[in-house]
Amino acid sequence: MKLSLIIPCYNEQDNVTPFFEETVKAFQQMPKAITSFEMIFVNDGSSDNTAKKLKELYKSYSSVVTVVDFSRNFGKEAAMLAGLRHAKGDFVTIIDADLQQRPEIVVKMVEHLLANEDCDMVAAYQEERIEGKLMSFMKKSFYKCINIASDIDFYQGASDFRTFRKRVAEAILSLPEYHRFSKGIFSWIGFNTYYMPYVAEERASGETKFSFFKSLKYAMEGIISFTTMPLKIATGAGLFAFVASILYMFVVIIQKLFFGVDVPGYATIVVLILFLGGLQLLLIGIVGEYLARTYIQGKNRPVYIEKEVLSAKSKSLNEDIGNE
Ligand code: UDP
Ligand code: MG
Repeated sequence: MKLSLIIPCYNEQDNVTPFFEETVKAFQQMPKAITSFEMIFVNDGSSDNTAKKLKELYKSYSSVVTVVDFSRNFGKEAAMLAGLRHAKGDFVTIIDADLQQRPEIVVKMVEHLLANEDCDMVAAYQEERIEGKLMSFMKKSFYKCINIASDIDFYQGASDFRTFRKRVAEAILSLPEYHRFSKGIFSWIGFNTYYMPYVAEERASGETKFSFFKSLKYAMEGIISFTTMPLKIATGAGLFAFVASILYMFVVIIQKLFFGVDVPGYATIVVLILFLGGLQLLLIGIVGEYLARTYIQGKNRPVYIEKEVLSAKSKSLNEDIGNE
């Protein structure tokens, strides 16, 4: 059986070689059922020397290493998709290049899949995260919101770090969406998933690419890609404003008929104009978010562009890494 490793890399020049070496070392414990493996490094338009380092790796280990070089930075989601399209393995693993996710865990994931025929996917999740209180609160709120709003279940703390069978990879590839939100996709496709707790290490080198605002944008992407709840809230808010204005109309009419014209009312008018104007802009914005996505999807552009692909010339696991 073959195992494919997909490694999205964005400015990871100091990590890719240690990652390769540590993975090869860890894979010496790999169950015998896995007879060969490939590592698909997707260089997501890095601006540092990642491309050069990957080419060097390919030159030395072209039997296991595949390098997919993007024409620019398309984001981790695009890199994972490219990796999946190139993966030939019976098992596929998605893992980060920064060694926060240890390759030893991949061995455990594979063992679990081999021992449990009915399990299709093993997803690593972090019970404890080393992160700021605000970030942690935002993430918790995100999971709460999205679980209420969407029909599918999102597992808090589950990452993209997973190992799954070929059929799961095929299912993911069958989703043609341009705006990809992997956490949602993994849940949406279903399959039996085992959640394996793990502790993320410190980044080996470099820094995280997911700043607070990038994470926020990513969360928005998830909500808009996987629920239509904001549209329903928009309708609800519109309905509420409509009913409230009718009730207020009666108040105004009664005031005029029974109490004469009440000229002061400046504050009410200003508040109402501002409130309704703001509400309308907000609701148009929400509708616009959905419309924009339909528009971009309608253009049918590819999710990423490959500049160059260096494919592994696969042999057996033992030959690949010089095991005896
Ligand atoms: N990554 C990528 N493209 C991007 C951003 C990140 O391919 O635009 C890769 C990155 O090189 C790493 C993985 O995605 O292998 C996770 O990124 P990072 O470590 O910055 O995220 P964190 O672990 O802090 O959530
Ligand atoms: Mg990381």
